[in-house]
Amino acid sequence: MRVGLLEASEIGFGGSGRNVGLVNPGMWIMPDTLAATLGSPFGERLIELLGRGPQKVFELIEKHGIECELERAGTLHCAVGRRGLQEIEMRAEQWQQRGARVVLLNAEETRRKIGGGNYTSALLDERAGTIQPLAYVRGLARVALAAGAKIFTRSQVLTASDTGSRWRIGTAKGSVNAKWVIVATDAYGNGPWSQVRREQIHLPYFNFVTRPLSDHLRASILPERQGAWDTREVLSSFRLDRSGRLVFGSVGALERAGASVHRAWAVRSLRRLFPQLGDVEFEAGWFGMIGMTSDNLPRFHKLDRNVVAFSGYNGRGIAPGTVFGSVLASYVLGQVAEKDLPLPVAPVEERRFRAAREALYRAGAQLVHLIEARL
Ligand SMILES: Cc1cc2nc3c(=O)[nH]c(=O)nc-3n(C[C@H](O)[C@H](O)[C@H](O)COP(=O)(O)OP(=O)(O)OC[C@H]3O[C@@H](n4cnc5c(N)ncnc54)[C@H](O)[C@@H]3O)c2cc1C
Repeated sequence: MRVGLLEASEIGFGGSGRNVGLVNPGMWIMPDTLAATLGSPFGERLIELLGRGPQKVFELIEKHGIECELERAGTLHCAVGRRGLQEIEMRAEQWQQRGARVVLLNAEETRRKIGGGNYTSALLDERAGTIQPLAYVRGLARVALAAGAKIFTRSQVLTASDTGSRWRIGTAKGSVNAKWVIVATDAYGNGPWSQVRREQIHLPYFNFVTRPLSDHLRASILPERQGAWDTREVLSSFRLDRSGRLVFGSVGALERAGASVHRAWAVRSLRRLFPQLGDVEFEAGWFGMIGMTSDNLPRFHKLDRNVVAFSGYNGRGIAPGTVFGSVLASYVLGQVAEKDLPLPVAPVEERRFRAAREALYRAGAQLVHLIEARL
């Protein structure tokens, strides 16, 4: 097939270039909850497919020599307090029942893997890993170009009309004709099929990166190079990059008052987590929008004749997005029937009070960080 990609901004402008880089299997919600929500056959089918998601990402990276700081040491989901411990134990049990390579660590083992913190336990997922996400998506774009795809950046899709046999997709400067359209705009969508974005509630998430740490510190912090996040409602995440910078993130938008509140909180939290750091200085910070659906599960939409979309990754899009991309390619090529897709066709949902709920997330995260910074 001849393939063209129209991108409104630059490759990796959306979630793909802004995320934490945790390549995790499954979704955020528990495997049993996922299975119960989707029912048979989609529930266990999706779990099985997404369980192999990181492997698919690693294979692509290795096959095409994509330089994106791949670490295959697993990830750590760290339990906070007794409630966190219960959650992690439940997750461990549900994954182990499905034969997944996950290991429940006690408090001491967790402390050794992290080199700090005071977590009650952690779930080590040996299937997982970390990447530099922008380098991954740019690498994929390079591979697609080499395979003959045409990529047009700074080409926002503004119009779409069905000519009967093809779609005519228009930008400010030109148009393309296509038999099939795959809408992959997720939480950043605007233009003709922006209802995909409107069925999601935006959860802002930021990251800061420290200066490269000394060799001594690098040996004590995440010595095996797992990526990590915790069970708090307003969670934190952290990983080391190849240059020894700590990438530290949490819920919130780095704008207006939030920028200084979240920065101050991040400095204090990092010092508390890793007292050996001493002074914490950040080299950079950024934030992005995570698109949350009503049941925390992604969606497969048929938006029009030959117009399809997977979206709604709920903060877990690296492996699922990669897997769904190749599933959609097979579907468009006629190699996979609709009934065999990992998700059922879903109507687009209307979310009530979306703007108010998004404002609440921003304000809530700011408040939590403001209070925590003072404790
Ligand atoms: C801060 C943050 C942290 C995250 N952390 C993780 C993590 O650690 N692990 C994980 O697995 N997932 C994580 N996620 C989720 C993950 O990043 C996303 O699910 C994933 O990147 C979605 O990929 P995508 O290609 O579907 O969409 P995106 O990467 O968001 O790309 C959509 C693109 O569509 C373009 N676009 C929009 N409208 C138009 C138009 N009209 N015409 C042309 N182009 C258009 C946008 O410019 C954008 O580049 C995180 C997300 C965020 C924001």
